[in-house]
Amino acid sequence: MDRVLSVPFNHQQLALLDRYTAVPGAYNTLILQALAEAQPGCQQAQLSSPAPPPPKRKQLAQHLLEPGTGIAVEVKAGQVLRIAQVEGGQCGDLNVYNLQNGQEHLHVGRTRHLHGPHPTTGDLLWSCAPWERPLMAILQNTGVCDTTFASCSTLGYSHFYNMPQHINCQQMQIEAQRAYGIGPWQEHDSFNLFMYTVSDSEGNPGIDRNGAGPSDYIEFYALTDVLAIPNVCGDDLGKTSNFWQNHLSVIVEEALPEDRQRAEGFTKPYQNSVVPVPYQIKEVPLRRDPDYTPRFPHLPLRIHQVEVVLSEQDQQKLDAVRNPGLYGDDLCSALRDIVMDWADAKNNASLPGYSHH
Ligand SMILES: [Zn+2]
Repeated sequence: MDRVLSVPFNHQQLALLDRYTAVPGAYNTLILQALAEAQPGCQQAQLSSPAPPPPKRKQLAQHLLEPGTGIAVEVKAGQVLRIAQVEGGQCGDLNVYNLQNGQEHLHVGRTRHLHGPHPTTGDLLWSCAPWERPLMAILQNTGVCDTTFASCSTLGYSHFYNMPQHINCQQMQIEAQRAYGIGPWQEHDSFNLFMYTVSDSEGNPGIDRNGAGPSDYIEFYALTDVLAIPNVCGDDLGKTSNFWQNHLSVIVEEALPEDRQRAEGFTKPYQNSVVPVPYQIKEVPLRRDPDYTPRFPHLPLRIHQVEVVLSEQDQQKLDAVRNPGLYGDDLCSALRDIVMDWADAKNNASLPGYSHH
């Protein structure tokens, strides 16, 4: 018996699919072609095992981040910032500034230098020169953090997809940091949360499917007062967030005594490496603009349900190639992955030289 699936795609994804349909809007044929060409094992992912729940602490603030948005949150010294999955499979970017002096901010390059490409529990987030000191300590990481990729941006979507109007992390950061008067030119390199990066045989980094489940989270202990700016990654054309945009949860809590002990322990190996700052620097404290109202570009994200008729043979093929470890019984997400991966590969094949996938 035939089976009809109603598969959600957003307008940015359909704009890519539209390039490969013979007749505009005729997605059924295109989807069945992608399914016919899919190979078993094509949805392999490095899955996180279910995470134990975080410790119970006093909650100070909680935000649910919608796709296409970010938020600037104050995390005072001795507080914990938790960025958590909601539905699962969602990548996020993070920028961090010293709240008492916005000129000092996270230096992803130095952090990578000291902790490698994938900093994790026990590692520190280092600030830029001339300060070069830890701003936050990673208390718990149940996903994968990445320091190799720059944030997705207008340039990236323009160059790789000819889609300059695509939702992107760079513009979300600029809009979120505007709440504290941080200018667009002051955005720094992003610390990537829940980004499952891998290297090819020549050492080029690539982004794999997102292995974060709904229970995964990353916790940071603030060693000094900071302004942390997480955003929901806008990449729905590549594997970064399994070809979709979900929510992220952002929580600030009062640290427990054992959190402080652990974080201080993480800084111990660096205690004799204090960097002198022999310069006169006028500090610029960051303060929230009381008149700020967010205006994130490229929203709303419009979702369209695409009806697909699967024959019995198509259903068997989908069962043979889909990864239940990644998508469970959600046939629609598994099929969307197959179609978007197919379109992304077609798009990549048309690009000259090194591609980011
Ligand atoms: Zn992004």
